[in-house]
Amino acid sequence: MFAQFDNSYTRLPARFFTRVSADAARAPRLLAFNDRLADRLGITERDPDRLARILSGQDVPTGADPIAQVYAGHQFGGFSPQLGDGRALLLGEVVAPDGARFDLALKGSGRTPYSRAGDGKAWLGPVLREYLLSEFMAATGLPTTRALAAVATGEVVLRERPLPGAILTRVAASHLRVGTFEYFAARRDRDGVGALYDHTRARHYPDVATPFDLIDAVIGRQATLIARWLGLGFIHGVMNTDNTTLSGETIDYGPAAFMEAYHVDTVYSSIDSFGRYAYGNQAQIIVWNMAQLASALLMLEDDASAALPRWQALLNGMPARIDAARMAVFGRKIGLADATPDDAGLIDGLLAIMQRGQADFTNTFRALADDMNVRDHFLDPGLFDAFAPAWRARLASEADPQAVMRIANPVLIPRNHRVEEAIQAAVTGDMAPFERLLAAVTDPFTDHTAHADLKIPASPENAVTQTFCGT
Ligand code: AMP
Ligand code: MG
Repeated sequence: MFAQFDNSYTRLPARFFTRVSADAARAPRLLAFNDRLADRLGITERDPDRLARILSGQDVPTGADPIAQVYAGHQFGGFSPQLGDGRALLLGEVVAPDGARFDLALKGSGRTPYSRAGDGKAWLGPVLREYLLSEFMAATGLPTTRALAAVATGEVVLRERPLPGAILTRVAASHLRVGTFEYFAARRDRDGVGALYDHTRARHYPDVATPFDLIDAVIGRQATLIARWLGLGFIHGVMNTDNTTLSGETIDYGPAAFMEAYHVDTVYSSIDSFGRYAYGNQAQIIVWNMAQLASALLMLEDDASAALPRWQALLNGMPARIDAARMAVFGRKIGLADATPDDAGLIDGLLAIMQRGQADFTNTFRALADDMNVRDHFLDPGLFDAFAPAWRARLASEADPQAVMRIANPVLIPRNHRVEEAIQAAVTGDMAPFERLLAAVTDPFTDHTAHADLKIPASPENAVTQTFCGT
């Protein structure tokens, strides 16, 4: 037996999904496998060939029931009424030995009824990129989908040039998206929205009693999530509503990237020409996305117009919730175990001089933890000299600020040029740089001498200025 499956999504009405199978893969080969995550899920299979066949969709394990889920979504603000798993299939829901339930999805498995013009495939680049980024996020304790495996298919995928095809096995608390609710709401399918609401409650929010409570709970999780993204310098890149989960996990690492020098306007995604999803816009965008979820759920109120003011007030209150979460996150980053609103000046003051001083986000915060003097990280060290006295005075009332900072500020991140380097090597058949980078970013709070080079920001020559969805 590969795993214990129980596929609750396939018990929903037929209009929620389509049964699919993966495209043939000539020579599936296991490139990376996450043993610890497999243990967590109760997957005992370790034969690489058998794993490669299952995780490329060639063999369907007992109990699995592969489907493509349908959804809709606002993409860059415009509504697409019909999206869905176009390059992924949901193999099934795994019930772990402790009873926890996880979706197992194969990303890059071939065309489905929702593929539109796409080929449903992925090449090695985006697969390894998502593997590295999501496993780093998980290692910092952030809610995220995980990577169980990367499999080379032996097929050629045509992009700007022929590239090696690959499939990522993604593990998620679920794949329920804001866009899934929008799909049924846009069709005025109240029964569909209701069934999805019941399913979401059962899966993630057993204590929720009303649609209003559900949106409140999702807002709570998303507020914390976005604050934690900001605290890592993370830029998701495609915060479309179909990439925003009900579970509160980060999902869909396409053009996602971590910034180097701090600047709120940082954008890497090649398709985000107007900076809609720039680093500093993410807190506003999530409110907008939650408003789309609210509009869909409001259908379930018997008297929607009577309910509206209360729902509106909930959404209006979200920015303050994000900001409170952001203060807690950044408070710890500067050594405050419990930051209060009075500390906002200190936190935002530091960020303002980091932006002016082009300070590397990760290295500056980590140096604060290690030796508390970071003046050399600023283009103009005087900026830090002017800031430091107030900060040190505030730290005087903290028990052990360095201990707080050391677990809030990772030593390293998957820097874009290192991710790129690992991908380029993998394309030539050399997995060593990927394995080394993965080992480093999944132990991100330990300062290993052997990983010192991975801490260094990109030079102008090897800087990656654009990232791609990788479709
Ligand atoms: P994304 O913004 O990357 O999350 O993708 C948006 C939509 O495009 C989803 O419905 C995907 O399934 C679909 N899509 C992305 N890439 C492909 C592809 N290569 N083939 C088919 N569908 C795709
Ligand atoms: Mg997506």
